[in-house]
Amino acid sequence: MKKTTKAALALAMTLMTVVLTACGGSADTPNDSADAETVSQNAAPAPASGATLTFGTNAEFPPFEYVTSSGVIDQYDGIDMAIAKKIAEKNGMTAAVENMEFDSLLVALENGQIDAAIAGMTVTDERKEEADFSTPYYTATQVMIVKEDSDIAAAADIADKKICVIQGYTGEICVKDMGYPYEAFKKGTDAIMELVNGKCDVVVIDSATAQKYVGDNEGLKIVEDASAFESEEYAIAVKKGNTELLEKINKSIEELLDDGTVADLGAMYTEAIAVE
Ligand code: GLN
Repeated sequence: MKKTTKAALALAMTLMTVVLTACGGSADTPNDSADAETVSQNAAPAPASGATLTFGTNAEFPPFEYVTSSGVIDQYDGIDMAIAKKIAEKNGMTAAVENMEFDSLLVALENGQIDAAIAGMTVTDERKEEADFSTPYYTATQVMIVKEDSDIAAAADIADKKICVIQGYTGEICVKDMGYPYEAFKKGTDAIMELVNGKCDVVVIDSATAQKYVGDNEGLKIVEDASAFESEEYAIAVKKGNTELLEKINKSIEELLDDGTVADLGAMYTEAIAVE
C-alpha cells in the first residue's frame, strides 16, 4: 500500500492500520495490544511521584528536537520534547533528556542509560529487532532537498548526482536500497552546508525537517517522489521486553493523539520555527 497523496509537509498525523517502513518493506503496526485498551480522554496528570523518566534523543532534528535557550525540558525543545514531557506528567513522573548521537539511542536503551528513545525515530523491521516501539504518533516521508535551479524532479534523477544523507537515518537506508553511491554526514546541518556550497546535489531527509532547512537557507527547494519514498511512522522506543513502560507510553500517546495535542504541537512547532 503506497501513499498516493503526500500531505507530507502539512504534518499528517493520522494513524495508519498498516505501517510501511521507509523504502517499501511492510511492517505490522508496532504494538497491537494498545487497541484493546479503552482510551480515557482528558485524564488529569497523575501526581508527581518524584520518579524521573529519562528520554534519549538526538537534538539535531528540528522541529522534533533541537537545542534552544529555554526548552520544554531544560535546553531541549520541539514536538518530541513536548510529547515526552506530557507523557512523563501523565504518569506522575518528571521528564529528563539525554542528548546523544542518533546511532547510540538503541544501545543506550539496551544498557539502561535511558528509559525511552524519542527522536523522530522511524519504526523499521531492523530496529524492531533491537527495541520495542510504541503506538506511532507521526507520519512522515523522505524527500529530496535540492538547489532551486536543480533539474532533479524524481528519485531516479539522483542516480548519477552527488547524494548526501545523514548517517543512520532512514534516508541513508533508502538511498542504499536504491543502490546509489552517497556520502553520509553526522548532522543534517552539515549535509545542508554541502548542498548550499555546491559540493553535493541532493540531500535525502525526513519531510518536516527538510521544510525547516529549506526555510532557513535561501535558494533551496524540496522535491517529493511518492513512488520512491513511502510513508514512515515515528514512534517511541523502549528496551525490548519493557512492556510495563511501553503500556504507559502507549496509553499516554493515544490520549495525546485523541485529544488533538499531538496535532496542535506539530502545528505550533512548525509555525514557531518558520517565523524565527
Ligand atoms: N526518521 C529518521 C530515522 O528514523 C530520522 C530520525 C532522526 O534523525 N532523528 O532514521
